[in-house]
Amino acid sequence: MPSSARCYVEISRGRIASNFEAVQAVVGSEVEVMGVVKAEAYGHGMVEVSRILVSRGARWLAVSTVSEGEQLRHAGIEAEILVMAGLLPGDYRPAVELGLTPVAHSTADIRRFEEAAAAAGRQARFHIKFDTGMSRLGTRETPGEVAEVLRTLRMIQCDGLLTHFASASDFSTPQTDAQIARFDEIGREMADLGIAPRYLHLSSTNAIAYARPHAWRTIVRPGHAIYGYVSPAKGVGPQNALRVSPALTWKVKIVAVKDVPANTLVGYGGIACVKRATRLAILGAGYADGIPHRLSNRGKVIAAGKFAPVLGAVSMDLTTIDITDSPQLRPGDDITLLGREGKASIDAQEMARWAGTISYNVLCGIKPRVQRVYVD
Ligand SMILES: *Cc1c(COP(=O)(O)O)cnc(C)c1O
Repeated sequence: MPSSARCYVEISRGRIASNFEAVQAVVGSEVEVMGVVKAEAYGHGMVEVSRILVSRGARWLAVSTVSEGEQLRHAGIEAEILVMAGLLPGDYRPAVELGLTPVAHSTADIRRFEEAAAAAGRQARFHIKFDTGMSRLGTRETPGEVAEVLRTLRMIQCDGLLTHFASASDFSTPQTDAQIARFDEIGREMADLGIAPRYLHLSSTNAIAYARPHAWRTIVRPGHAIYGYVSPAKGVGPQNALRVSPALTWKVKIVAVKDVPANTLVGYGGIACVKRATRLAILGAGYADGIPHRLSNRGKVIAAGKFAPVLGAVSMDLTTIDITDSPQLRPGDDITLLGREGKASIDAQEMARWAGTISYNVLCGIKPRVQRVYVD
């Protein structure tokens, strides 16, 4: 049953589950697959996706913030939850109380977490991230400096070492190999200092898809793959080993249909001028729903199984398309922004190319007012 909403996304539970299982099949049963569900599961709905992954055996989930972890706990999710994007001073106490596993990015982070655990009178666990070359989060302190602090801990325990790759789909640069080498060096130094956490993890989607098995270790952290995407590779590397496909379809209803004569200007700024007599459909969604403004006069949608061009500027709540080739369309009919109708299909990577951005940005850009509908 199609939704009656003006603009909605349909998310396939079965697709999320089979994408998760495809990742598990590639890495093998010895490696844990931690589902990355940050940012509302890249627009797919964090709680709903977490439930699907847990039902398929995921023991670990990853979010960006303590507040996201809190939402999952309040929804009754009992899996281990890694908080990856850093804690602010007020986050440590709730992280302890919610039983979240923060990633520490400095010895100062570790000390704050120890204090919060002591204040709460509860034991807790954390992972520590080393910056091996991405220069975003992760400590650049030496293993010796980290080990010194780890030896003083009484309330909290370091359970994992991780890092994050900057260029795992790019085989024209040695950056990933250099990051792996640096991570191994850190791991050896930590082991020499008597510290050997049970979890080691480095890989997100790209290092799984373009098989770098020496980077899988004990856990992998896929996000994009769970939603059905793998970024294209650069340079000469292994084939994409992951068989995943998009879990999300994005639809919008036609609000109005009208005919205009040749040489009519369309939309804000009159940036389009139709050459022929044209039938327009005005769609009930715009950039306030997440349709990139950069699709103005250049994107396409699927109308009645055929590609139809966007005409003029995408506006806040409305977008105009040319449906001259599909004159049967009426107000209330669904148009596909992302998805497939017969032979025509558009995915987030293609929309991103038209808009000069990346697929992650397109998926995360689908606004909360767009209704989420879950199907089997
Ligand atoms: C977002 C993120 C991931 C998941 O990345 P994908 O490319 O979506 O698989 C993994 N690890 C960290 C640290 C992240 O920030």
